[in-house]
Amino acid sequence: MIIASNFKTNYTRGSAKAFIKEIQTFVSHTKSEQNVRIFAPFTALDRFDEIQNIKVGAQNFYPIQSGSYTGEIGFEQLEEFGIDTVLIGHSERRHILKESQSFIAAKYDFAKAREVEIVYCIGEPQEIRMQGIDAIMSYLWEQFEGIDIHYDRLVIAYEPVWAIGTGLSASLEDIEEVLTRLQEKLSAPLLYGGSVKVENIESILNVKACEGVLVGTASWNEKAFCEMIRIADTVKK
Ligand code: PEP
Repeated sequence: MIIASNFKTNYTRGSAKAFIKEIQTFVSHTKSEQNVRIFAPFTALDRFDEIQNIKVGAQNFYPIQSGSYTGEIGFEQLEEFGIDTVLIGHSERRHILKESQSFIAAKYDFAKAREVEIVYCIGEPQEIRMQGIDAIMSYLWEQFEGIDIHYDRLVIAYEPVWAIGTGLSASLEDIEEVLTRLQEKLSAPLLYGGSVKVENIESILNVKACEGVLVGTASWNEKAFCEMIRIADTVKK
């Protein structure tokens, strides 16, 4: 399964390095079978020791190799560190930073052309959730506009917007219903994200269609993130 941490706008270069080292040590000592992803801030990217199943990825990039886009990070700057996994479509970028679906699709095409793993995030806001499953699914399908769902390095993270950073996770029934419906059209691995923590990760990973989690807040503690990886190793699917 994929167990991913999204640092968002947290951690310095120094503290991220210490965190990554601790996770690497834990994964190697426990011989964890999880595919661990750590989406660190740009300033913390580096060439880290290569530990099988752990990849440090980028939370964002501008869809250009290099050029004149003041303040942005192009692919050349990611390639310097061998970045092989990127987040695209996170709700904070869609809603707070106002990324349009066409811009998100342009980033997707760009990353796909470079053959990197894409963790593509989708999710509905609270007002859509209140309208029921059909409204949720049509909202989610719109977030696939311009996206090649057959890309073989695609991973999808279903993250209801109202569950991100709120401490309120979706119910297991709701996660199962959405992931099962997504599975009808998609063959990519499906992750759940939204207030995943040590206390609920086991039951979420036991949802049949769920192949991993994307964790923000609760992963910003090395011990808790290691514990989540350990729990994932106990879940047999
Ligand atoms: C996220 O940022 O992708 C996320 C799921 O955050 P949190 O775990 O804090 O809800």
